[in-house]
Amino acid sequence: MLGNVHKDLNVTHLDVNVIKNLPIEGLINLKKVTFCGNFGDPLMHPDLNEIVDFFQAQQITISTNASLRSKQWWSELGTNKNVTVTFCIDGIGKEHEFYRRNTSYKKIIENAKSFIEAGGTARWQFIVFKHNEHQISEAKELSRQLGFEIIEFIYSDRFDTDDKWKVYENNKYLYDLEKPAKQITLKSHLNSKPGEKYWKELNENKGPISCVWSEQRKLYIHSDGTVYPCCLLGSVRAGKNIEKLMLKKLIKDYKQIDLYKKDLISIITSDVFKKALPDSFKEKPFSHPVCIEFCNKATGKYYTSDLLKSVN
Ligand code: SF4
Repeated sequence: MLGNVHKDLNVTHLDVNVIKNLPIEGLINLKKVTFCGNFGDPLMHPDLNEIVDFFQAQQITISTNASLRSKQWWSELGTNKNVTVTFCIDGIGKEHEFYRRNTSYKKIIENAKSFIEAGGTARWQFIVFKHNEHQISEAKELSRQLGFEIIEFIYSDRFDTDDKWKVYENNKYLYDLEKPAKQITLKSHLNSKPGEKYWKELNENKGPISCVWSEQRKLYIHSDGTVYPCCLLGSVRAGKNIEKLMLKKLIKDYKQIDLYKKDLISIITSDVFKKALPDSFKEKPFSHPVCIEFCNKATGKYYTSDLLKSVN
């Protein structure tokens, strides 16, 4: 995030035994599990097969770059009737690799074919940028030919602060990713002045916060074992310092939400989930900027998503 890899990024796999300790037999309403790769790619997990087998009674969605693993592995995955794979393919050919750096478009398509031919349900997610927006019709046609169930075009929120996003490697500037022509960002929707961040307008015009993930009865488990109401709060610890500090003020002690230290039921009945976070939605003592940005009812990204996300 924000350029180079952060020095304090905790690069780790969630221990398979932590997952196996989840009380899923008692969670009778647990219908869906998504391996979403907030900080990485689920296919990197060495115990992925064991984890897939563990959630036999749930519908599993794996969201991935899909540039890893053999065709044989993909064929076997395709025989799991409870697994859907979201292939994140942002363009056709080299355009895809512009954003999904160091992946191989050719290998991804081979993997998708193996998975689909074995009976797997595949979805295609396509993030639209300036460099790939001319490929939308072609991608729709290709997705039909390859047998994808659906193709979904979405926008990235990277462009909320600027229409360009600089790509770096080891401190070396490489190139810009650019906003597609039709994308309306939160910044432009709020009519923020040039050069200004959108925060001033967002704060002045915000409505009450309503936690979208709680309403949808969802929960997020991070790769380090910590549990959050959503993936957005879960990614704060790799983000801006001010956001990290504010989250720490709310959570106080991360051990309270850590599956390596506590079981899931203790975590979701803890003060963090029962008091600190619900109070923060009501600005007691303050609302976290991420919650304002996404979940305030007047200008939050979730509540303005029809406007901000629609792609023709
Ligand atoms: S951003 Fe905050 S309010 Fe919105 S879903 Fe996440 S935790 Fe809930």
